[in-house]
Amino acid sequence: MASSDEIRQSAGLAEVAMKAMLTRGIPPTPHNYAVWYVYATKLRVELTREIDAIIADKREFTAKLNEELYTRFFDSREQLKALSEAGGQFQSMVDKVLQTVAIVGGETRAFGEKLDDYSIRLDGEDGSRNAKTIVANLAEETRAVSERNRVLEAQITQSSSEIEELKQRLVAVRHEAFTDALTGIPNRHSFDENLRDMTAEAMATGEPLCLLILDIDHFKHFNDTFGHQVGDQVLRLVGHTLKDCVKGRDMPARYGGEEFVILLPQTKLPDAVTVADQIRTTLMRRKIVRRDSGKDYGTITVSVGVGLYRAGEPLEAIIQRADEALYRAKREGRNRVVAEDTRSAAPLLQA
Ligand code: GH3
Ligand code: MG
Ligand code: MG
Repeated sequence: MASSDEIRQSAGLAEVAMKAMLTRGIPPTPHNYAVWYVYATKLRVELTREIDAIIADKREFTAKLNEELYTRFFDSREQLKALSEAGGQFQSMVDKVLQTVAIVGGETRAFGEKLDDYSIRLDGEDGSRNAKTIVANLAEETRAVSERNRVLEAQITQSSSEIEELKQRLVAVRHEAFTDALTGIPNRHSFDENLRDMTAEAMATGEPLCLLILDIDHFKHFNDTFGHQVGDQVLRLVGHTLKDCVKGRDMPARYGGEEFVILLPQTKLPDAVTVADQIRTTLMRRKIVRRDSGKDYGTITVSVGVGLYRAGEPLEAIIQRADEALYRAKREGRNRVVAEDTRSAAPLLQA
C-alpha cells in the first residue's frame, strides 16, 4: 500500500505534469501523460534534457514530436511486436514447407507400395489376362501421383518465396529498430546492447575497452542562427564523419540530441584519446556549405570525454566517467578532448 506521503507526492507530480501539458497545448493522452509525469519527476536525465532542449528551442510539441518522445523513451514494444509477428509468420511458413515435404514423402511411399502390389499380382496370376488392365491402372496411378507432385511443388515454390520475403522484412525491421532515423548510424538502443556485449567481452579477455562521448559545441546557437533543418544536416554530417573515422569493430552511435558515443574495444585510454582527437580535428576542418546555393555556414567544433571500462563495474559507471570528462572539456573551453581521471578508485584493466 502506498503511504499517504507517496500519494500526496504522486498527486503533486500529476498536477505538475497536467499543467505542463495544458500550458503547451499537449493533449493529456495516456502516452503524453507518461512522458510528462516522468519529466515532472526529473528522474530520467535523458528525457529531462531532451524536453528542456525542445522548450529552450521553442519548438512546438506537435502530435508527431509527442509520439516520438513516447516511443523513444517508453515504448520499444512496437518494434518488438513487429519482430515477433514476423518471427511467428516465419515459423508457420517453415511448418507449411515441412508438412508439404512430409506429404510428398508419403505419396511416394504409397505409390511404391502400389507398384509392389501390382508386381505381386503379376507374379501370382495369369499375366497375359490381366496385364492390360494392370498396365492401364499403373498408368492411371502414375498420372495421379505426378499431378499431385506438381501441385505440391508449386506450393513449395510459393512458400519459399514467402519465406524469402519474410526474411527480408525481418532484416529490415531489425535494422530499423537499431538505427537512428536521422543519421543512419546505430541508435541508443543499439549502443546499450553493444555496451553490454563489449563490457562482457572485455571482462572475459582482459582487453581494454574505451568509450567516447562527443557533444557538439554551442549547437543551440547554430540551430538558432541557421535553423533546425541545417542543424539536422550537421547531425548527419557528424554521423557520417564518425563512421568514416573509425575502423573494425569500433562502434559509433547517436546517443540522443546532439550527443554521440563511440565504443572502442581492444583500445587503451591514450589510443582512444588519439582517435577522439582525430575525430575532433576532422570535424573542425569540415566546412559546412549548402550544396545547392553554396551558402557557407562556417564550421562546428565538438568536445569529447573519454572513459575506460573497469572490470566488473556497473555499465553506468563508465558512461558517467566519460560524461564527467566531457563536461570538463566544456568547462575548460570546448573544442577539446578530455580523458577521465584514471587515478579514481577501482583498479584498471590494462590502461
Ligand atoms: P554546449 O557547447 O554546452 O554543448 O552547448 P549546446 O548549445 O550545444 O548545448 P545545449 O544542451 O544547450 O543545447 C543542445 C542543442 O542541440 C539544443 C538543440 O537546439 C540541439 N538539438 C538537439 N537535438 C537536435 C536535433 O535532433 N536536431 C537539431 N537540429 N538540433 C538538435
Ligand atoms: Mg548536449
Ligand atoms: Mg552541445
